[in-house]
Amino acid sequence: MGKYEGTRMFHKVTRTWNPIIGCKHLCSYCWAWRLAEDRLSKMLDKYKYGFRPMFYEKELKAKFKPNELVFVADMGDMFGEWVPKSWILKVLSTIKRFPRTTFLLLTKNPKRYLEEEIFDNLSRMSNVILGATIETNDDLVYIIEVRQNVRPPLPSERISTMIKLRDLLPNARTMISIEPIIKFKSGFAEEVYAIKPEFVYIGYDNYDNKLPEPKLKDTVKLISKLEDYGITVYRKTIRKAWYEY
Ligand code: SF4
Repeated sequence: MGKYEGTRMFHKVTRTWNPIIGCKHLCSYCWAWRLAEDRLSKMLDKYKYGFRPMFYEKELKAKFKPNELVFVADMGDMFGEWVPKSWILKVLSTIKRFPRTTFLLLTKNPKRYLEEEIFDNLSRMSNVILGATIETNDDLVYIIEVRQNVRPPLPSERISTMIKLRDLLPNARTMISIEPIIKFKSGFAEEVYAIKPEFVYIGYDNYDNKLPEPKLKDTVKLISKLEDYGITVYRKTIRKAWYEY
């Protein structure tokens, strides 16, 4: 792990590991993109091309301790469409060598979990948590107010892919990150429940991007519904929407 990487920690994560960096989704609120382009590009050779997708094969020599929870590629999206399958398979091979360490994968493009060879590998691994970021279930709000330039898959596509993954791999460990939370439609809790995640992280934007946020009362209701469904919810930044102050 680089000294300056891994600032977007989930509290259970003990370490980050970035053999693949960069992302072409370019979400309007991306903190990693700004960090890579503005600061890390001047400080670290690894980021000399900023947020351009890169593979650092020498990182595959990393060693991991039992009982660590390692967040893989938090400085990008290693399942983006642009990432060569060979890179992903090499990272998964390394993960397999540490069966007593748990590795958290997180993407906005979970359909690559289902891709041939990648799926075959994942279906035989018990030390990975397959995560997806799903900030909302409202495609329209997402299209109009959040997406820009290059477009990550719509939230509805991510939800249906994660439900399909659950059907194909009933015992897979999965998680959902609802962060930064965006205004959502009714039925969001039910859709997340259908994915049967082991846990959910939920939180508001930390970087004052003035996103179309839900009111605090709606978020509190969502959390309560998820917990009623028996889902473990970890709260990150929970506050009023910026326009409620
Ligand atoms: S998918 Fe993640 S890493 Fe990629 S631009 Fe969006 S927030 Fe940044």
